This record gives sequence, structure tokens and C-alpha cells, in this order.
Amino acid sequence: QAKAQGRNNYQVYRPTMSVKTPELLALEQQLRHALDNDEFVVMYQPQVDVCTGALVGMEALVRWQHPVRGQISPGVFVPIAEESGLIVAMGEWVLRQSCQQNQRWQSMGLLPLRVGVNLSPKQFRQPRLVENIAKILAETGLEPQYLELEVTESTVIEDIEFTQLLMRDLNRLGIRLSIDDFGTGHSSLSRLQFLPLDTIKIDQAFVRDLSRHAKTSHIIAAIVALGRSLGLHLIAEGVETQEQLEFLRSIDCDSAQGFLFHRPLSAEQFTLLLREEGRRLQRNPSPSP
Ligand code: C2E
Ligand code: MG
Ligand code: MG
Ligand code: MG
Repeated sequence: QAKAQGRNNYQVYRPTMSVKTPELLALEQQLRHALDNDEFVVMYQPQVDVCTGALVGMEALVRWQHPVRGQISPGVFVPIAEESGLIVAMGEWVLRQSCQQNQRWQSMGLLPLRVGVNLSPKQFRQPRLVENIAKILAETGLEPQYLELEVTESTVIEDIEFTQLLMRDLNRLGIRLSIDDFGTGHSSLSRLQFLPLDTIKIDQAFVRDLSRHAKTSHIIAAIVALGRSLGLHLIAEGVETQEQLEFLRSIDCDSAQGFLFHRPLSAEQFTLLLREEGRRLQRNPSPSP
């Protein structure tokens, strides 16, 4: 059809036109059955203390185990789920699964850690969010301080008044709140100062650019300093090299997450890691750098 309009009259397909290829339509269709067919799995990526290397937390990351295509990353299917509204049911499943698994580890006597769970914009704006989370905590028995919700900067600043009211309610439940991918949303920390936040996750794009652009290090240092002065916990994402880690140490960032330490692990692999960490702590209660 675009061609019919002549050579100099290209119709450029932009994402906003939401043209669905047959492949995309098929994926959306299959996504509808993925929950019922038990095709989602949650992986857990460890977070460590920048100075000591001690395990301090984890992030729950969903994967789609597609019967034909194998593992599909959330970067591909989360946007489809978001657009079709399937995200609400899927997200609730991830939340429940993460809380249940975290409670299971604690009842095994393993080191208690908090789990970060990602919330998409639509999940964040879902009317029964607070109720649902309260219900999941009650049903799984997880103490609220061991759950942290991750919301991206752009989701939060879209409607700051709404965010403030919702976050107050979430805060009242006793759970923790973090801003994910911080630094990409073109907001400033000053706009976030009235939100009941606990953690800022520095976007991995900044960490990646550390070695490429000298100025990036100043930006990260500024985020860490300002976050620190607001009493927030700072986590750097996507740490892949020793050099990046050393820089983060030098500016007093709290924690890090990335392939340098661990890739996202299955619940079974994470159990082994928790056992190992427990033994390490027994040998050396305050690990040195
Ligand atoms: P995110 O929340 O910023 O998660 C971090 C992503 O960075 C994860 O990708 C993780 O595997 C990846 N990563 C961790 N360390 C490194 C590293 O050292 N280098 C590089 N290059 N990447 C690293 P993943 O698992 O593919 O998830 C992508 C995004 O999908 C997440 O970004 C999050 O926004 C979304 N997502 C994941 N799980 C869920 C979920 O359960 N619900 C919702 N709504 N979104 C989810
Ligand atoms: Mg996240
Ligand atoms: Mg992130
Ligand atoms: Mg991201």
C-alpha cells in the first residue's frame, strides 16, 4: 500500500502506528496461554555489596519458556503483554512466585534477603494493586520489608501526584520502593524528593558508558552523592568489569548487580548460592574487601 503511493511518498512504519506483523500477532496469541500452560519462570539475579562482595539482595526477572522458540526475554514479550493487558495477570503471578520463593528460602533458615520485583506502567496503575500486594504478602507469609517494588523513572514521573498517593499507600504496607533505570527518564532527583523511596537503581547505560565517556563518571558520582544525601540506597546495574566496580567503590555506591558477579539464576541455583553465602558468613562474619 505504501508503495502504491509512489516512490517519493514512503510510509514509514513507526511503532506508534502499531502495525502488527503476523509474527507479533502469533506471539500475542501464544502469550495468552502462557500462564495457564506454566510457561513463565522467574530467575533471580544477586545483588552484592560493592565493598565487601556480600550478598545483599536479588531481583526477580521473568522468562518465557516458549514450547517451540525456547527462552524468550522480557524485552520481547513484556511490551506485548503490556499492550494487550496480559501484563496484569502475568505480573501478579511473578509477584506471588517471588514472594513465595523468598519466604521458602527464609523458612529453610537461609540468609534473609529482599527481592526486587519489576512493575510495568500498567501494573502500577492497576486499581487493585495495593490490595493485591497485601493479599499476596498475607498468603505467602513474606514479611513486607523483604519485598521491594521496582518502578522505572518514566512510569513514576508521568503523573507525580498519582505516584505520590499510591506510593504512600504502598509504603504503609511496609514494603520497599525503588526507582529503576534511573537517569534515563530525564527527571531530576529533586522531583522525586517527596516520594517515599528506599532505593535508586542507576541505569546500566551509565555504567556501560563509564569507560567510553569521561563525563559519565561525573554523572554517576552526582547521582550517588545526591541519593546518599536523601538517605537512599544506591544500586548500580549492569556491572560487567572490575574497572567499573572499582569506580563504584571509589564514589561510595552501596550495591551492584551485573554479570561480573552473577547472571540471573534459577531458584535452585540461587539456593546453592545462599547456602554458600551462609557458610562464608559463618567462617568470616564481617567479610573484608
Ligand atoms: P531491568 O529491571 O532494568 O532489569 C535488568 C536487566 O539487565 C535484566 O534483563 C538483566 O538480566 C540485565 N542485566 C543484569 N546484569 C547485566 C549485565 O551485567 N550486563 C547486561 N548487559 N545486562 C545485565 P532482562 O532480564 O532481560 O529484563 C529486561 C527488562 O524486562 C527488565 O529491566 C525489566 O524492565 C523487564 N522485566 C523483567 N522481568 C519483569 C517482570 O517480571 N515484570 C515486568 N513488568 N517487567 C519485567
Ligand atoms: Mg528492574
Ligand atoms: Mg534497570
Ligand atoms: Mg532496563
